[in-house]
Amino acid sequence: MIHVRYERGLYLPAQDLWLDPWDAKRFAFVSHAHSDHIAPHDEIIVSERTARLMQARLPGTRIEHVLPFGERRTVHDLNVMLLPAGHIFGSAQFFLFAKKETLLYTGDFKLRPGKSAEPAQWRQADTLIMETTFGRPRYRFPPTEQVVDQVVAFCRETLDEGAVPVLLGYSLGKGQEILCSLDGAGLTPMLHGSVYQMTRVYEQFGQSFCKYVRYSTNQVTGKVLICPPSANGSRMLEKIRRKRVAMISGWAVDPNAVYRYQVDAAFPLSDHADYDDLLRYVDLVQPKRVLTLHGFAAEFARDLRDRGVEAWALSNENQLEFPPRVLAKASGLRELRFDARSKPTRETRALPNLN
Ligand SMILES: [Zn+2]
Repeated sequence: MIHVRYERGLYLPAQDLWLDPWDAKRFAFVSHAHSDHIAPHDEIIVSERTARLMQARLPGTRIEHVLPFGERRTVHDLNVMLLPAGHIFGSAQFFLFAKKETLLYTGDFKLRPGKSAEPAQWRQADTLIMETTFGRPRYRFPPTEQVVDQVVAFCRETLDEGAVPVLLGYSLGKGQEILCSLDGAGLTPMLHGSVYQMTRVYEQFGQSFCKYVRYSTNQVTGKVLICPPSANGSRMLEKIRRKRVAMISGWAVDPNAVYRYQVDAAFPLSDHADYDDLLRYVDLVQPKRVLTLHGFAAEFARDLRDRGVEAWALSNENQLEFPPRVLAKASGLRELRFDARSKPTRETRALPNLN
């Protein structure tokens, strides 16, 4: 089997290639432009849209191998293909053809069609490395249209009360999905500067949105403010005396989300696959083994094993459940390595992961 290591990112030793490493590396695949997936690498494999978004967020020079979706290409001596991941604009999965084996790495992904991301595509692979942010059965998202209707109703009710509705969503991906969701609702979105900057990059690639305005202190009345979660409690929002704040995140299905995020409401619109779609993806890809990472990696791997699928988590929790020595013996994954130094893990560092 293709050797895989996990050490603050995935590493394929035989290919000398990193997949979404946290730290700057010589040669890496960057799945998408969220801040916990980009670093100043020397040389990257990347989609065109991610390359542009990455340039806006992390300016600098690097060698870019910009690949189109769905076409098999050779980079150095690697035979690879990018597939859309459906997570955010430009997000890609990485498919590796290695002699008689194949490997698919999802990065962050979702199967539900979004309005501002390319629909996910897949193909059969021997090894599937997948994110499992919402890998517990309690994370089942309601239909998107239902959530969007609730968000629009929240905005209208808040405006009717003479207050300003504030929707909190990550500036890249979620902000634009919210913007698309408000299209046709007769509302005027006002974008925080960071959301505005990312939205402009989308427009350079031809994505169109409903009419919106950029944030301006004295003109918030009657608008729907779209801000990153970090703006909650900021001076910018404190200055708005009458407002109602809603978190837009998959974590909203947690009953205590409103208290956890200190908001008035929370709506489960997510950029990630929910539990059912994670299971569905394994069915679609038909892998011989699954390696999981992020979120509930160990729990989801255990659920897959209960269903007869060979699956192992690429995260620290695994050490509690299976000592690496036992795991290596059980799975034959001699190169699977666990790095105790990698605390906090990306998921704990990013908690709450609101993208
Ligand atoms: Zn992401």
